[in-house]
Amino acid sequence: MTNLLRSVLAVLASAWTCNAAAGLVTEPPAGVDEPRFYEQLRTMLFELSRSKDPFIRRLHETAKASPGAIHIRPITDDRSTWNSDGTRTRGHTDPDDRRPKSEGRSKPSDATVYVPPEAVEPGKGFWKSGTLVHELTHAIDLANGRYNAKVTIRERRATFMQNIWRSHSGAALRTSYHNRFPTLDYQEAVRRGALEDYARDIFTRSDFPKPPAASATGATRDDD
Ligand SMILES: [Zn+2]
Repeated sequence: MTNLLRSVLAVLASAWTCNAAAGLVTEPPAGVDEPRFYEQLRTMLFELSRSKDPFIRRLHETAKASPGAIHIRPITDDRSTWNSDGTRTRGHTDPDDRRPKSEGRSKPSDATVYVPPEAVEPGKGFWKSGTLVHELTHAIDLANGRYNAKVTIRERRATFMQNIWRSHSGAALRTSYHNRFPTLDYQEAVRRGALEDYARDIFTRSDFPKPPAASATGATRDDD
């Protein structure tokens, strides 16, 4: 190997390492001072990394290795952290480029996740309900350029991962997206023994299997 080739490889390797480390940012952005939130966030992310569930572990690994950066912030009194619909308690994940979500993203885009602080407090409602896991799924879709233009697909993917979390946390499985459309893909995947297939789509593609017929799962419970 020539010296030139060697130094080119060294530069590439360090760029790669740099990129891989940039994916999941666990420090507060400049101007955000919420030490307790970030301490609990880091603990929760560490727990995701050693979850007994392989899909939850993979969600964390994918976030960490994303080409785009993922920032996480608590929703506070500051209205700029609220959901655009004005609901203070509703988690959301926004592309940092601020272009409309409906454009989708086929190239990695930096993303910022906003969650209620209780989402990272073990045992609290937003922790049990898997808000962070839901939002991290949107974040990996953005940060890997797999962000579908269709809101139904994006939310069914995020809710699939959220229901995996709920299957362990004891919270009831989510069956709809705010009563707008059903989110029964996790239930269907379990019924068909196809969790791996659904998860593969989440971690390698931007689309998702067709939604199951409503009669297949029999679930009608409303989401909160
Ligand atoms: Zn969502």
